[in-house]
Parts: sequence; C-alpha cells; structure tokens
Amino acid sequence: IEQRSRAQVAVEVVGQTGSTNADLLARASTLEGPVLLVAEHQTAGRGRAGRSWLSAPGDSLTFSLAWKFDLPLQQLAGLPLAVGVALADALSACGVQVQLKWPNDVLKDGSKLAGVLIETQAAPGGGIWAVIGIGMNLRMPDDLEERIGRTVAAAPWLARMDRDDLMAALLASLAAALGEFRQAGFGAFSARWNRLHAWPGRRVSILDNGAVLHDGIAAGVDDSGRLLLDGAEGRITVLAGDVSLRTR
Ligand code: ATP
Repeated sequence: IEQRSRAQVAVEVVGQTGSTNADLLARASTLEGPVLLVAEHQTAGRGRAGRSWLSAPGDSLTFSLAWKFDLPLQQLAGLPLAVGVALADALSACGVQVQLKWPNDVLKDGSKLAGVLIETQAAPGGGIWAVIGIGMNLRMPDDLEERIGRTVAAAPWLARMDRDDLMAALLASLAAALGEFRQAGFGAFSARWNRLHAWPGRRVSILDNGAVLHDGIAAGVDDSGRLLLDGAEGRITVLAGDVSLRTR
C-alpha cells in the first residue's frame, strides 16, 4: 500500500461489532493516521439517513477506513463517488465487472452489490476525518431480498478468493484513490465515474423520503460529483444530500 499511495494504514480486524463506521467515528479525536477496521460480522450496519445495511456472518465484507482530509467539507461531496470508482477498479482486477449508481452504490447486473457510507468529523488539530464505510455482498444472504423488498447482488466469485487478498486489493485501490482525491479532488474521477455509470440516458426520479423531487434523464456527473439531470426545465444539477435515485 505504501508503494502505491505513500500512505501507511493501520489494519485492525474484529470478530463482531455493531458498526465499523460508528467505532471509528467514536475514536476520530484520537486517531493519528489512517485506520482500516474490518469486522467479520456487523450487527448494526448503517446506511444513509438512518437506513440499515444488513449482512450475515461470512456472507459479506464489512469494513471502514478512516482517512484525514485538509479540504473544506463541501469538496468532499464527490468522495463517495470516487470511492465507487476505486471499488470498481479493484473488483474489475479481480474479475468482477460492476457499474455505479449515483451517489453511493455499486451495482452488479442492476442490483446492489456494495454500498458506501461516508461520515465525517472535524479533526482536533484542523482538517476532517472521513470515515468511509463499505459493505459488500459476497454470498447472497438468506431471506435478505424479502427483508428489504428489493433485489440484491452477490459476487460468489469473490467469495472463493482468499479474503485477505481481496481486502488487500480493495485497500490498495482505495488508498491510491484517496491520495489522488486529496490532491486533485473529484475532477480527477468524473470521467471514469461517467464510464461506469449504471443508468446513462435513463429516465430517473430523485426521491426525498419517497417523495419525487425531480424527474429527468440521467446525464452523468459533473466535476463536483453532482448528478446532471435533463428535465422539462432544462439541465439541473443535484447534490447528493440524503436524496435517492430510482429508474422510472
Ligand atoms: P437507495 O439504495 O434506496 O438508493 P441508498 O443508496 O441511500 O438508498 P444506503 O443508505 O446506501 O441506500 O443503503 C441502505 C439500503 O440498502 C437499505 O435501505 C436497503 O434497501 C439496502 N440494503 C441493506 N442491506 C443490503 C445488502 N446487504 N445488500 C444490498 N442492499 C442492502
């Protein structure tokens, strides 16, 4: 990892915890450098806006990476998308092709394979700790689709890989991408994100708590990671915030 990103990352593995994001956020004021926390099992995985990430022991990879940025908070808006690009690169090198759904999902064959949740906290001496949480399905957990009421993807191909090798590949790709993001911001990732876009040219709705805010054609993302939406009133840009995206 040091070779590719010049970052040294402390790696910690625990058998079980509630949420790796919650654990790293609780320690953010005392962290001295990047930390990767991997949980064999997460019992209270978090999604955006209080939603849950569900996983069964051994079926998924659940981990968080704490990384410090000396950038204003608004420049981190594109970070979940850059993380998606890093995951897609690493998965492609492992033989699994994925697409990205704005703002924070990794899809395989149209269903969610992995989710990204980024939570931030001001660092005591200045700067911001970003805690980047990732949940990725390796095997299809029993009854998950019934529980959440939507289809889900898994990657059994990855489940057959050595878990340490897979984690190392993901971490190397993430560390390189985060170093690049720190230097150049999301602008360095927008073209790659647009090539991996799951729904280019599709008619989509932006939902806020189930209510439709905007309808339009998804035209990709700009250099800040905002979604470009071509609607009845012309092109608008949408900030991630807590909105969700659906195809129509
Ligand atoms: P949406 O997926 O509706 O666009 P989102 O991207 O903001 O919303 P997140 O908050 O990132 O979703 O993830 C939480 C959602 O992911 C849950 O509400 C549930 O629908 C779904 N989910 C939970 N566990 C899994 C899993 N193991 N695999 C795939 N999807 C899951």
